[in-house]
Order: sequence, then C-alpha cells, then structure tokens
Amino acid sequence: MPIANITTKLPHAEPMEPADPNSLFAMAVASVNDACGTIQAPDFVKAILSQPKNELMVHFPVMMDDGHYRLFKGYRIQHNNILGPYKGGIRYHADVSLDDVKALSVWMTMKCAVMRLPFGGAKGGIKVDPHTLSSTELMRMTRRLTSALGGNIGPEIDIPAPDVGTNAQIMDWMMDTYLNTHQEGRQQGMLQVVTGKSVGCGGSEGREKATGQGLCYVLLELLPEFRLKPAGLRLSILGFGNVGSNTAQALAVHGAKLIAVMDHTCALRNIHGLPIPELQQHVQQTGGLAGFTAAGIEVIDREAFYRTEVDVFIPAALERMVDAPVAQWLNARVVAEGGNGPVTPAGAAILRQRGIALLPAILCNAGGVTVSYLEWVQNKAGVHWELNRVDRELQKTIVLAARRVRLAAHQYETDLSTAAFCVAVEHVARAYKQRGIFP
Ligand code: NAD
Repeated sequence: MPIANITTKLPHAEPMEPADPNSLFAMAVASVNDACGTIQAPDFVKAILSQPKNELMVHFPVMMDDGHYRLFKGYRIQHNNILGPYKGGIRYHADVSLDDVKALSVWMTMKCAVMRLPFGGAKGGIKVDPHTLSSTELMRMTRRLTSALGGNIGPEIDIPAPDVGTNAQIMDWMMDTYLNTHQEGRQQGMLQVVTGKSVGCGGSEGREKATGQGLCYVLLELLPEFRLKPAGLRLSILGFGNVGSNTAQALAVHGAKLIAVMDHTCALRNIHGLPIPELQQHVQQTGGLAGFTAAGIEVIDREAFYRTEVDVFIPAALERMVDAPVAQWLNARVVAEGGNGPVTPAGAAILRQRGIALLPAILCNAGGVTVSYLEWVQNKAGVHWELNRVDRELQKTIVLAARRVRLAAHQYETDLSTAAFCVAVEHVARAYKQRGIFP
C-alpha cells in the first residue's frame, strides 16, 4: 500500500534540523528527507528520523603500557529501534566525531530496513588511532569502553559489530567484558551481545568477507541494468581493507579484473589485472599497499588513479572522498559505494550530470550487517552453520533487496540511490503507522 494512503489523520510534526548543515549527519538526513518527500511519508516519520533516539558520550581512563593514564572519548549513537534492537559498528579512528557517528547510525537504520532485517540503527566509536596503541592497550581500552556503555548495549538492546579500525579480536574482548559484567548474560551464554566475533568465540563463518561478498552479489544482480557482465569487468577500488579487498576477491571469482587500487599509502595500476591474494598478504604484513612490486605494476598518483578507465569504481575507504573534482575525474560507468557515505552531494550531482550510475551504500555494503544478523540468529539458537549455508542466506537476502530497490526506482521514476532510501523509509513508516506512537 502506498505510504500516502496510510497517513490520514496523523498530526503534523516538524523535523529537527542538523546543527551543522555541512556535516556528514546533515548529508545522511538529507537523503532520508528526499526519500520521505518522494514516497510522501508522514511528517512525524520524517521528524523522528531527523535525530537519533539516544546519544551516549563516555570518557574513561585507560592505563598505558608505560604506567601513565590516558583519557579516551567514546560514542554510542542509537538512531532508531522501531524494527528491532539497535545494531551497528564500533569505529576506532583519529577522526571519529559526534556528527559522523550520528550519520553512520542513520545509515544503519536505513540499511537494516532495506534488507528487511529485524534491527534498528546505531554506531559507535572512539576517537583514537588504533595503530598507535599496543595490543594490551587496545584490549584495556576496549574493555573500559564496554564497561562504560554498561546496560546501554545488550543482546536484545544494542548489538555492536566491527567497523573501520576494529576487528574480530576487538569484538571478542567486548563480548567477554559484557559477559563478565552482566550476570544474566553470563548465565544464559548470550554470545550474541556482539557480532563479527572470531569463529572460535561464536562468530559466523563468512562474516569476515561478508561485506565484499554482499557487494559482489549486488553487482551480479544489477550489472545487466548497465549492459555489463562480470566476466572481464574492469574495477578500480579505493581502500583495500576489509571491504575493498574482499570485494575484489569475490568479483575475481566471476572473472572481474582489478585494474587500479589506492589506499592511504599509495595507488597501483596494471591494466591486465592486479594480483589480489598477493596484495592482501602484503597489506596484512605491512599495513598498506606501499612497497608492493610485481611485473607490470605501475605506481600512480591520486589523480591518475581516479582517471583510470574502468567499468565499475568502488569507493571502500572513508566518507566524503568522492567530491566534485574527483567525480569530474572518474572514468567509470558505475560507482558502487562499498564504504559508507563516500560520495558528497556535490560529487553525486556531477555523477548524475555525467551519466554515471551510483549504487548506494545502504544496499551495496549491507552484506556485513546481514551476516551479523545470521551470527546473532546462530548464537541465539546455539547452532553453527557451514559457510555454504551462510553464503546462500546472504545471497538470497541481498539479491531480494537489490530487486526491491530496482523496482522502487521504476515505481518512483527515480535513481537507484534515492530508490534504496525510499524502500527503507517505507518499511520504517509502515511499522510506525501500525504500532502508533507511545503513549
Ligand atoms: P578498513 O579499516 O579495513 O579499511 C579501510 C581502507 O581505507 C584501508 O585500505 C585504508 O588504507 C583506506 N584509507 C583510509 N584513509 C584513506 C585515504 N585517505 N585515502 C585512501 N585510502 C584510505 O575498513 P573497512 O572495514 O574496509 O571499512 C571501509 C568502509 O566500509 C567504511 O566506510 C566502513 O564504515 C564501511 N563498512 C564496513 C563494513 C565491514 O564489514 N567492515 C560493513 C559495512 C560498511
């Protein structure tokens, strides 16, 4: 049923504008507002989604290895939980800020809704460069963050997961700390308080590669829209961490070639294709692409990287890296957002003008949260699925979501990016209409 038909007799409500109109948070809310306009969502839904439900900021001291104490600032933003417990990653990065975490929490609400997962949206993080900490310092900081968050997280309340700068080891420490500080969690073995754990600690098979694998499934489904095929598909990828490297690997299985790649250390190109496993191994050993050498590989500068002619460009690093100048340089048919919010509004406008299709992050990188959901389900049921089963479930869920988005683009005569937000907001709005607003 169109949303417009279920809005009768609902009161008017004003959204609360983001304090900084140039922030990442304002950018995230603008996408939600556009979708609300397109589907004629009720005012009150737009108002509710315009701010997170809860914003938690914590400060806590951690003892460094040399014996001195350092104070850290942590965030957990819970945007919306109408569809289920809050869900979202924990980021450790020097640039973590309140507005950015708020934006990422909005996108989590939208992502879970597009995928029809029974989760809401949240995000958290610590403003720290994790590479400057030893392993024991990282562990103490993670345990202090978890204890500072206290009962604000929980297996049916808010379920953290990895993001930039965090991994399965950090999730294992979070889970262990939670269980040690919550008696009922410990008694009932609630491993599902955190997802993205190592397999030995209750993690799911396939979680590590899930975001890249999911992006591969989305592209296999949508490439025919652009008259492209996976065999021989030329790719360039910005960021060669979890998302970038696993996407390259998953698409290579279908015959795609990674032509160019750039991370924070350098950019590399080989028009005949770069060796993905060797690059992954080098990054694991050294922390970046710099220093990798092999026959036929050229080191190129940033502009040459973006100007490289490819079929699909995948930004899988940090936010706002594809701005207006970069969008002018790109020489691709499709931009598939592997990272969150990589394309600025000005960048998106230029891509539109230049006829370059943009596939949105809330669909493209939803494989991670989908397998997190599968991990949560396995933990709750006390079972462990084989990789094939996890991949099958992921494929089914994300392909259905891609079809939903394609259909909405036709229905609302809009682009795939706006369509994805329409699909998400429709789902959230329907839940609000059916449940009503307390009291
Ligand atoms: P990661 O830390 O594993 O990798 C980040 C990559 O970005 C690294 O290769 C790094 O070198 C690169 N990078 C950082 N700064 C750069 C710069 N200035 N120029 C070029 N490259 C730079 O992180 P990740 O988990 O792969 O996450 C990447 C993006 O995907 C983030 O936006 C994250 O929120 C999003 N995401 C991740 C997951 C997941 O499961 N890991 C799921 C959904 C979305």
